[in-house]
Amino acid sequence: MDFAYSEEEELFRKTVRQFAMRELLPKYAERDDPNYPPEEARRQLAQADLMGLRAPIEYGGSDASHVMCGVAVEEVARGDYNMAALMLQNIVIADVLARHAPKEIKEEWLPEMVAGRRICTLALTEPQCGSDAAALETKAERQGDWYVITGEKSSISNVGADACVLFARTSPVPGARGISALFVPLDAPGVGRSHFNDLGMHLCRRGALHFDGVRVPKENLIGQEGTGFYQVMNQFDYIRALLSLQCLGCALQSVEETIEYVKTRNAFGQPIVRFEGVAFPIAEAMTKIEAARLLSYKSLWLRDRGLPHTKETAMVKWLGPRTSFEVIHQMLLFHGHAGYSDDYPLGQRLRDVIGHEIGDGTAEIMKTIVAREFVGREFRPYNAARANIGG
Ligand SMILES: Cc1cc2nc3c(=O)[nH]c(=O)nc-3n(C[C@H](O)[C@H](O)[C@H](O)COP(=O)(O)OP(=O)(O)OC[C@H]3O[C@@H](n4cnc5c(N)ncnc54)[C@H](O)[C@@H]3O)c2cc1C
Repeated sequence: MDFAYSEEEELFRKTVRQFAMRELLPKYAERDDPNYPPEEARRQLAQADLMGLRAPIEYGGSDASHVMCGVAVEEVARGDYNMAALMLQNIVIADVLARHAPKEIKEEWLPEMVAGRRICTLALTEPQCGSDAAALETKAERQGDWYVITGEKSSISNVGADACVLFARTSPVPGARGISALFVPLDAPGVGRSHFNDLGMHLCRRGALHFDGVRVPKENLIGQEGTGFYQVMNQFDYIRALLSLQCLGCALQSVEETIEYVKTRNAFGQPIVRFEGVAFPIAEAMTKIEAARLLSYKSLWLRDRGLPHTKETAMVKWLGPRTSFEVIHQMLLFHGHAGYSDDYPLGQRLRDVIGHEIGDGTAEIMKTIVAREFVGREFRPYNAARANIGG
């Protein structure tokens, strides 16, 4: 076994950490303002060469390994959880397009995404279905050389994006087999948008997309008709490991900041870190974070080697966000009344990480996937393959 990062990975981690500490952390709270321009955040990430990690080199990307993407996401999340979310979405969608989109779309969009000038989002969830994603009702009807899209997508991150990878029903076949993926520019006539008022993750602007007879050329099909759901979604389950590392980077930063705080905060004539009631939860937090990090990196390492990683990514998709939420909560409490104010970033972090206890698949759905791997598919209560794995 070898748990060491390569020299290149270590150097990359150091560089991204410096960027996150110097450029991102000081303005984390400022970017929580719902009016903060996301374009500015994108520009900053692109300038640091972080928007095209999985895009091929010929389109300006870095063709980075999945482990490298994990390092980037973890480190950026130490500075700003939501900047990491923005970057993560770009990494994964550029990867989808690079593998499945027609050449013209790649040529037009990938360089723009890498430069942070335009972004794409993923439109899967609908008002009536999230976990049971294959129950979606949005239709893309073939009319000559066009698909005509009608329906509503709900809970879409970066709802102001320039385009989306949309999942829609292209045939009456029920379940996932009737679903295809389409690339849809969001300036097309018939597209409407509305915004949600969220608890956290304000930079990621969640909302709904409305499609009223929106026409896209038949060439905008991503993957094959009727198999888009499996082809595109199942292949990108590594997003779960990245999300886990996003949550854990944020938790780790919170613990490290708290260690400094409890060393200088005195009660009963001594620094509070001397009390086991304070030191032991810090030890437990570090233990849990390290265990979850290792499994997250193992998932990405498996992915880089083309080995199966479904159960590992599902494990960390519930473990990472939950561990992060619990750890940040405890660190906030160690700051006493001050932790409850916006003098510290802990409250904002807590609000932000809750988003990923739900987004991209809930803990219950992840556990269903893990259980299926261990107890066998014949004992699953329903077709877990149709569960939401990407939104
Ligand atoms: C911050 C955030 C960002 C998001 N971004 C996107 C995006 O960009 N694109 C996109 O398409 N979607 C996105 N989503 C949507 C997200 O993927 C869904 O919210 C998620 O899959 C859950 O679906 P739901 O909200 O409809 O909950 P439901 O499916 O209605 O579930 C409600 C509750 O029931 C539980 N439940 C459901 N089925 C089972 C079962 N079989 N066994 C046990 N419990 C079950 C769930 O775990 C949950 O606790 C985002 C969500 C959030 C919060």
